Amino acid sequence: MPIATVNPATGETLKTYEALGPEEIEQRLASADTAFAAYRNTTFGDRAILLGRAAELLEEDAQDVARTMTTEMGKPITQARAEVAKCVKAMRWYAGRAESLLADEHPASTDVEDSGAREVRVVYRPLGVVLAVMPWNFPLWQVVRFAAPALMAGNVGLLKHASNVPQTALYLEDLFRRASFPEGCFQTLLIGSGAVEGVLRDPRVAAATLTGSEPAGRSVAATAGDEIKKTVLELGGSDPFVVMPSADVERAAQVAVTARVQNNGQSCIAAKRFIVHEDVYDAFTRHFTDGMRALRVGDPMDENTEVGPLSSEQGRADLEALVDDARQQGATVLCGARRPEGRAEHGWYYAPTVLADVTPDMRIHREEAFGPVAALYRAPDLDEAVRIANDSRFGLSSNVWTRDETDVARFVRDLQAGGVYVNGMTASHPAFPFGGVKRSGYGRELSGHGIREFCNATTVWQAA
Ligand code: NAP
Repeated sequence: MPIATVNPATGETLKTYEALGPEEIEQRLASADTAFAAYRNTTFGDRAILLGRAAELLEEDAQDVARTMTTEMGKPITQARAEVAKCVKAMRWYAGRAESLLADEHPASTDVEDSGAREVRVVYRPLGVVLAVMPWNFPLWQVVRFAAPALMAGNVGLLKHASNVPQTALYLEDLFRRASFPEGCFQTLLIGSGAVEGVLRDPRVAAATLTGSEPAGRSVAATAGDEIKKTVLELGGSDPFVVMPSADVERAAQVAVTARVQNNGQSCIAAKRFIVHEDVYDAFTRHFTDGMRALRVGDPMDENTEVGPLSSEQGRADLEALVDDARQQGATVLCGARRPEGRAEHGWYYAPTVLADVTPDMRIHREEAFGPVAALYRAPDLDEAVRIANDSRFGLSSNVWTRDETDVARFVRDLQAGGVYVNGMTASHPAFPFGGVKRSGYGRELSGHGIREFCNATTVWQAA
């Protein structure tokens, strides 16, 4: 895959980049290693000043960086600006909280005595150089979500970003440099995915985090496993959105539209499978389909656009193949399932689509639909809703709509997912852990869980 900015709204190649050669990669590895030796000894206060400055600079750059993201991957400009704001918030959150999140822990005195010690404490020390392999869909957020806690913990970062967002990747390196992070603390490697294995096997790299597809995760985890290096994987999702009879159905349908088409439908935590109790199925389906049909599809730079193009021609072809397969196997098209009129020739647009009568044999039931395509299911009761929801190899997040607390308790107990969002849609927040189970990956980002992933929890035991 060439490293290039190709505008998905027009198909035009705007800028191409040469991948780094072996010597340049070596230079950056050496620089990261040298940086870590000193940076690990900085205080939380020092790091908070640097990260706070990065947040300020990012806030100043908001308009420009939002336009860069929209140009590179096609998200509506309003959503790009919201992504910048979210990154600023997460940077400030970690700058302010890292010290308390990584404060020494003191086990219970009875356990300390029982071990024969005078004092025991657990200290969190940084691991070292962490390689971050990141996707294009939230080109700023995915990186900041890793970088803010990793840098606050005293680690240093090497970013291998997706090949279609090189300008955002270079912007991030420049941002941390301008914020005065010491040289080598955060570097962007413009490399193809084929060069990841070599970097990960380098003894100077301590760990890796990957956000992306299942095959990419499998490949990085296999190499890391071979090298016995820690990994965090944030992979795909096909989140269920369950609607029960006690729900506010109109509101649920309204939120369902946003939950499905946010980021042009290309979000890991977008709701993708809509499982509706039969008592409210017809009402929900009507409101939901009306909402999907009414979406404004268009130029992502236009302030009024709600759905822009998919990020690549291949991405659209993959989505079309999923829809065609479902249709051939008997799914009913309630809206969409085509390229929008007037936008078929330029740019990789796809009309918001609702498919009903989806069955387990269809690819869309098993695979992640990465675009504005919703699959509808009818469930006779809660047990069947839970069964359909869990009938997926993914387990990222889940959304449930009900006013019945007994239902909520059942969903929380039984849904196989890293999150259960009740009467709302999944949205990450710096204070709450984020991540999945099953093929959606392992490990957690954000919150105290996220910052501890790349720390060495060290027991310090002192004899009585
Ligand atoms: P992708 O093709 O897996 O790419 C992600 C990153 O991995 C890119 O930097 C890519 O580099 C690299 N990569 C691809 N194959 C690789 C390999 N074999 N070895 C090493 N690196 C490899 O995914 P994407 O299309 O960019 O992103 C969409 C996927 O990410 C979806 O499945 C989505 O659900 C998932 N995602 C998950 C989360 C989460 O938090 N769980 C968040 C966002 C997205 P190149 O670009 O050079 O190929």
